[in-house]
Order: sequence, then structure tokens, then C-alpha cells
Amino acid sequence: MPKERIDKVLSNMGYGSRKEIKEKIKKNLVTVEGELVKDPGLKVDPEEDKIIIEGEEVFYRKYIYLLMNKPQGVVSATFDNHDQTVVDLLPFDYKSFDPAPVGRLDKDTVGLLLLTNDGELNHKLLSPKNHVDKVYYAYLKEEAKEEDIRAFEKGIVLGDGYKCMPAGLSIGEEDKREVYVTLREGKFHQVKRMWHARGNEVEYLQRISFGSLTLPEDLEEGEFRELTEEELRLLR
Ligand code: URA
Repeated sequence: MPKERIDKVLSNMGYGSRKEIKEKIKKNLVTVEGELVKDPGLKVDPEEDKIIIEGEEVFYRKYIYLLMNKPQGVVSATFDNHDQTVVDLLPFDYKSFDPAPVGRLDKDTVGLLLLTNDGELNHKLLSPKNHVDKVYYAYLKEEAKEEDIRAFEKGIVLGDGYKCMPAGLSIGEEDKREVYVTLREGKFHQVKRMWHARGNEVEYLQRISFGSLTLPEDLEEGEFRELTEEELRLLR
């Protein structure tokens, strides 16, 4: 990869602000290939050069993959003029990688959201060709009916005339307002619009799986963790 200034490289990797890195360099806390760094403008290749800061070796990574339990009230975007975004919930170490959400959940929808700076994978997972299954748990205003299952299987026609791909629906045994919807596509407000087309409304919506990933039970809303190697392998 092209060489970059060491203060920029270390700052982007979450080792501190550019000013803090400059301070550390001044205090002789940074070496490259065993040589003390004197100049914060020194050009390095973080993939090739052995960089040590405060005794710790820097392991360069290009990509990060995060699984978040998105809370209500934040938007699935990298930047927004009014609302807090899912990226705003991340600490600086992760934000500095410039991750973006893979697809969108509405502001009031909670649950599994993937974030990554791997644009190729992001694109692949969203491509209609790929048919990544997404499962949503929804709590409805009225009880779901048996006919809804058949209608979902046939493909719901939305208010604007769009005919959805066949979708899976299972209805809670004890409470028929509880449903699980499986989609292979991701149109704007899709689950809500599908239920609206059936004369019902969604009161609560949570995504519980995305392809091979399921929302971990121990991940609280607003929390995130990195994908494991295995989870990443299955997703690719
Ligand atoms: N369908 C919706 O209506 N909203 C979401 O956030 C996701 C799917």
C-alpha cells in the first residue's frame, strides 16, 4: 500500500489524535523497524513496516466487521444533520476505520445491524442477486391471520404497486400479534408496508437475523462486537 505519514497512520488506527501521536513521538515512544521516530511526517507502510508505540506492536488491519444491536432512535447512516447515527455509537478506535452500515433499519427498528468498511462485502450482501435472508420479529396491532401466510408466500403488493418477492411468515402460537417475517429483499419500510397492505400495522420491529448471523442474546441494545473469523467466513 502507498506510504503515509506515521502520525496519520497511527491516529487513523485509533492510537490517539494527531496531536497526541506527535507528543508520543516527541517523548521517544515510537519506533519503526527498531529506529526511534523523530519526525511525525515520516512516511511508513503500515502493512510492511514494524511499528511499535509505547512498547506495543501495531497490527495493521484494513477492514473491520461489527455486529450491532441497533437501539431505537438512531439512524442507520454514517452522518446525519439532526439525529444520532449508528456510527456515532462507536468509540473512536472503530469510528476511525470509517465503517458504514450494511443496509438500513428504520430509526424506530431495533436489532441486528452489520457495519463494515469493506465496501465490496457491503455491496455483495445487499445485491438483489445474492438473496440474503433477513428475519424480523414484529409485534402487530391486530392478530395475524392464516390467510396472511398465503399472501406473504404469493408476494404482497405494496401501496405503490410493487409486488414483493415471496416472503416467509410464522405466527406466534400463544399471541397471534407476534410474527416472524423472512425477507429476501430490503425495500424501504418493507415489513411495515407489507403489513399495512394486509390491513394491519407493525407496532414494534426487531431484526433477529441477517444471512448466517443471528442477534446474540447477550448483546444489549446499543452494544456491538466484532464478528468472529467463523462468522465472517460464513457471511462471505
Ligand atoms: N422493514 C421495515 O419496515 N423497517 C425496517 O427497519 C426493516 C424492514
